[in-house]
Amino acid sequence: MTSLVIAVDGPAGTGKSTVSRGLARALNARYLDTGAMYRIVTLAVLRAGVDLTNTEAVAATAANAELAVGYDPDEDRSYLDGEDVSTEIRGDAVTKAVSAVSAVPAVRTRLVDLQRKLASGQDSVVVEGRDIGTVVLPDAHLKIFLTASAEERARRRNDQNKTSGLDDDYEAVLADVKRRDHLDSTRAVSPLRPADDAVVVDTSAMTQPEVIEHLRNLVRERAGAQR
Ligand code: C5P
Repeated sequence: MTSLVIAVDGPAGTGKSTVSRGLARALNARYLDTGAMYRIVTLAVLRAGVDLTNTEAVAATAANAELAVGYDPDEDRSYLDGEDVSTEIRGDAVTKAVSAVSAVPAVRTRLVDLQRKLASGQDSVVVEGRDIGTVVLPDAHLKIFLTASAEERARRRNDQNKTSGLDDDYEAVLADVKRRDHLDSTRAVSPLRPADDAVVVDTSAMTQPEVIEHLRNLVRERAGAQR
């Protein structure tokens, strides 16, 4: 039985991953990165050379991919058919293709099912994604929706790129942030939006430790009210 389920949703570049991991660490909870699962399936599709507009072929490849992710907030481990693909799924090719793959309804049905199973096996878990509070775990004890302006998110991503030795190209990063926002929020199945009962947290002017502390306080309030 799961005793504490926290859903963290929001667009790319809000610091969602770092904040979700930090929160899981602080609560001694497990951590489930659902974006990694969509990335693993996308890698399977790319490796199979499937045309991304052929939704049936994308769905068939996704159905046959065997995927696994770790639960440890301190370790980022993802596997495709038993192979460790943790680095490859963060690369450019997967990042560009993942929105198209994750818009395929059959892909979402399979992954949502798997995410529910994985989350229900944990005592306390922070689940990070785009549709966790709205679709995957509508009964989560606490639903957080992180936001920040597109410009701020692009600035953060561009800074990260520079630190990792990639090109300094703010305009290109901003265009990509906006492109992904648009695809994620306008897709027919599970568009990105806050759940009606989500707490929306604008992180534009907050540091990540401040966001984590803020979320810890929300968890304390919620746990106090429920226990
Ligand atoms: O969080 P991350 O950037 O790794 O997610 C990659 C992509 O996976 C997102 O841009 C989105 O298209 C998709 N995704 C999703 N639903 C989730 C998690 C991720 O559609 N729950």
